[in-house]
Amino acid sequence: MITIDGSYGEGGGQILRTSLALSLVTGQPFTIENIRAGRKKPGLMRQHLTAVNAATQIGNAEVSGNQIGSQQIFFEPKEIRPGSYRFAVGTAGSTTLVMQTVLPALMVADGPSELVIEGGTHNPYAPPFDFLQKAFLPLINRMGVKITADLEKPGFYPAGGGCFSIHIEPCGKLSGLEIIKRGEIVRRKATAYVSKIPDHVAKRELKVIAKKLNWDKEFLFIEEVKNSPGPGNILTLEIESESITEVFTGFGEYGVRAEQVAASTIKDVREYLASEAPVGRYLADQLIVPVALSGGGKIRTLPPTRHTTTNIDVLVQFLNMDVRLNDLGNHVWEMEIRRQS
Ligand code: ATP
Repeated sequence: MITIDGSYGEGGGQILRTSLALSLVTGQPFTIENIRAGRKKPGLMRQHLTAVNAATQIGNAEVSGNQIGSQQIFFEPKEIRPGSYRFAVGTAGSTTLVMQTVLPALMVADGPSELVIEGGTHNPYAPPFDFLQKAFLPLINRMGVKITADLEKPGFYPAGGGCFSIHIEPCGKLSGLEIIKRGEIVRRKATAYVSKIPDHVAKRELKVIAKKLNWDKEFLFIEEVKNSPGPGNILTLEIESESITEVFTGFGEYGVRAEQVAASTIKDVREYLASEAPVGRYLADQLIVPVALSGGGKIRTLPPTRHTTTNIDVLVQFLNMDVRLNDLGNHVWEMEIRRQS
């Protein structure tokens, strides 16, 4: 049986989610110990527990240790049951991360699925809904599946209370993914979202974008969110190139000035644009499992993060795949995923 050490490498929730995703897809049972040992509050938090319970339902699995705070679980799936499901995180925990746990299995299931997930939709340190919809899912759809996601209600951290739905139409055999060139930039867009906070926050963020990135007014948008339960502010910068769309997000926080939120988001965009890598840091770690399931692929990305290297180490414990990371220079790395020969 596979035993995963949750304290390894990055030591966070991703090790658990990737293990659940790969266990569902391969049918292999596993035990994970030291869950989130690298975090201040180790063990399962609401988001992770919701992911375990979602995987349990979808995989008709036998599970033990699925309680808040638990640092060890055993998980054994029996089958993949596509269908309609509703999962509620119960706090502002990330809904998109719960979805990413079960998505690989539902992409290769023998029927379509519809998920509704309640909780946080725009959380720091997790994929915001806009990133999911505009950056992540279009690449997944390129592998042949048909996935659409709709934001029913934004849920900003820390209030949460958001909800999104996703429809997954599997395609039989996934095709591999190769993204090695970015191509020309064809569109750029900055959107400052504000919910229950003054709109001058959004205006100040966009003013910094206009000045520092030299973007015209036609690329700048303010969205006043009316249907979110809590206050919130995020800034998204979209860079659409010929081969890929990347989304960079800044999260407004109490005590952090709007100018600072804009400046840190600009820093990420500049780093991306200064390199020729098409795939940003977050997409790189999130594409590993789907690309491996398709049989392999090749992507060029910024220097790999610990999330990426840790995710690769979890992957190879479940699948006979080789993953190579080659430094091509100028802050471009190539990640090649292929079946072991
Ligand atoms: P923890 O165990 O730290 O509480 P967690 O379970 O919330 O963490 P991590 O293990 O840190 O999550 O994984 C976070 C995931 O969110 C990674 O896949 C990372 O790529 C993604 N992510 C983080 N920030 C962003 C962002 N701004 N845009 C897109 N994806 C993001």
